[in-house]
Amino acid sequence: MKERAMPTDIQAPTGKKACVAVLATGGTIAGQAETGTQAGYASGRITVDAMIGSVPGLSDLADIQGEQIANVGSQDMTFALMIALADRINALLGDGAVEGVVVTHGTDTMEETAYFLNLTVKSRKPVVLTGAMRPSTAVSADGPLNLYNAVAVAADPRAAERGVLVVMNDRIHGAHSLTKNNTTSVETFLSPINGLIGTVIYGKTQYFRGPFRRHTHTSEFSVAGVDRLPRVDILYACAGMPADLIDCSVSRGARGIVVAGDGNGNMNAGAIAAASRAAGQGTVVVRSSRVQTGTVIRNVEIDDDSRRFIVSDELNPAKARILLMLALQQDRSLEELQEMFYTY
Ligand code: ASP
Repeated sequence: MKERAMPTDIQAPTGKKACVAVLATGGTIAGQAETGTQAGYASGRITVDAMIGSVPGLSDLADIQGEQIANVGSQDMTFALMIALADRINALLGDGAVEGVVVTHGTDTMEETAYFLNLTVKSRKPVVLTGAMRPSTAVSADGPLNLYNAVAVAADPRAAERGVLVVMNDRIHGAHSLTKNNTTSVETFLSPINGLIGTVIYGKTQYFRGPFRRHTHTSEFSVAGVDRLPRVDILYACAGMPADLIDCSVSRGARGIVVAGDGNGNMNAGAIAAASRAAGQGTVVVRSSRVQTGTVIRNVEIDDDSRRFIVSDELNPAKARILLMLALQQDRSLEELQEMFYTY
């Protein structure tokens, strides 16, 4: 999807303001500290109404309705909460009155929730996650402008059909591509493999491309009526990785294991043997990478065909785990599972 990169008016063609729901889940954007210049703070302290009220001009962009879904640091995000969020977004976007949704969220696990929603929201309308790296009380808090820009994107009809988006620090990222890259900087999110979807500068949007993978209304996954997902563990490969971590996951009932492999999804000989045993017993083994960028390719240094392993392609371990949890809701062959990693 090639487009001219030029700033556009975010107003819907009718001139009527869009209705945007802001669903708050917590995070640093709702965080507070005692002073404006300290590193320490607590996530998830201020309410959605306070957040909305702190952004001048927000109501010029859209009619806003706020909802408090939770108020947690995203390190405490659960799949129960993600499912509740997907259900609520599906209900809001299905009813016709709401044109877009913004989810405020901590940045630590934002990429996981964004990707989960990218696979489970059934709508063409814009869904945009945003957050902040500095708490609401900080000097130069980044949350208010991030929220302003997120609402501008959610109210923009041209953001539709691009899957779930993340707006942070003037950038529009796709859920499939983005990853958190810096522990403290406001420029923390990157889309290192596929690049940005676009930019949004003081509410003015421009788009470079759509996401390349299947998402939202074309996704086959659903969490309607679901209250739990199969266990999938992530194991981090490193020099001297103890292979019994893999045996332990299997014995604790993991239906799948994602190895955050070194390099091109590698692991040592002992771990390969344990992973082969696991795969032979029916546990799905996905090779991803602990490296921040690049794809994991089949049959490079490890013979995936004979060992019955799957590769994650572009997905990092956290997102590969989410795809596998959703995919394992149903019995599927290894070939079908592998194809999903090339499709989503
Ligand atoms: N720990 C925080 C969270 O993820 C960090 C943030 O929001 O930036 O909720």
